[in-house]
Amino acid sequence: MIELLKKHVESAKQIVLFGHYNPDGDALGATLGLKSVLRNMGKEVAVIFPNDFPDNLSWLGGADEVLAFSKNPDKSKEILSLADFMVMLDFNDLSRLNDLEGFIPDTPFAMIDHHPLPKLDTPMSFSDTSASSTCEKLTEIIYDASWDKYIDKDAATALFVGILTDTGRFNHNSSNPKTYRMVANLLEKGVDKDAVIDAVFDSYSENRMRLMGYMLNDKLEVFLENGFALMVLSMADKDKFNYQIGDSEGFVNMPLSIAGITRSVFLQEYEDKVRMSFRSKGDIVINDIATEHFNGGGHKNAAGGTSFETLEKTILKLKMVMGIRS
Ligand code: 5GP
Ligand code: MN
Repeated sequence: MIELLKKHVESAKQIVLFGHYNPDGDALGATLGLKSVLRNMGKEVAVIFPNDFPDNLSWLGGADEVLAFSKNPDKSKEILSLADFMVMLDFNDLSRLNDLEGFIPDTPFAMIDHHPLPKLDTPMSFSDTSASSTCEKLTEIIYDASWDKYIDKDAATALFVGILTDTGRFNHNSSNPKTYRMVANLLEKGVDKDAVIDAVFDSYSENRMRLMGYMLNDKLEVFLENGFALMVLSMADKDKFNYQIGDSEGFVNMPLSIAGITRSVFLQEYEDKVRMSFRSKGDIVINDIATEHFNGGGHKNAAGGTSFETLEKTILKLKMVMGIRS
């Protein structure tokens, strides 16, 4: 399979890389990492996402060239019409591209991902649920393809960001020694680990810190007997704290630090929907709930979904699904 990927990349001139809606560190890291590597091989490469990425990742090399389809539909369509090869990174189902889905051309593509139940069909499907992150899998593929000489500091940094964020700074999903072999490879390519941690995790606004305190104090509901905790961010809360995209990143994980809490859900209200983040610990499976009840999916311990009901109805439904009697 790697030979087929190499053949396509070698003959391609214009390559387009895609990541999923609401890009996270892994999606952005993978697209930017691969972009740098392919550029260093002499290819024309573009990165297109359905919408914008969070501010705390804008320092990544090449982030300024990323196209958000929601903001630049015409430019995105023009680039798509020129593509002779495409790579889908950190998703395995076209619905994760939202509005961009309908504009994907019938061009050969590879998929590199670590989510369960792939729906995309391609002979170049690098789908590996044992990988901590798409960036870990991609690093492995780059080495297997003998493209590692094209990894510069920017590429290594982007790939490291994906591994770092998808494992919650090596907190979860990171017990496989291979993860650390890939990290070691990237450190050898010049990653400044401490600077990356500072840029990703210690560069938030004062507003975010105060929002976090408010959410923990006023908005956290704990159901110890169910091992479940819930936090709800309403539109009014967002207004109050001048909410910016990314400000609630990581909030869903915090209740899992409470002894006995093994499932956590974070709800965020939008004009037309409620976005939901699900997390669980160890053997407790959570993606089934996201898939079966909330139009979503994801991994065993980390999933997401969307509800098109009101916030109140969504909370009621969620509590019922979680077995809470009220
Ligand atoms: P997050 O809570 O960080 O948004 O998402 C957690 C994980 O679930 C990520 O790996 C993400 O790719 C996946 N995920 C989030 N939302 C959705 C969704 O709507 N559908 C599917 N299939 N996966 C999702
Ligand atoms: Mn990922």
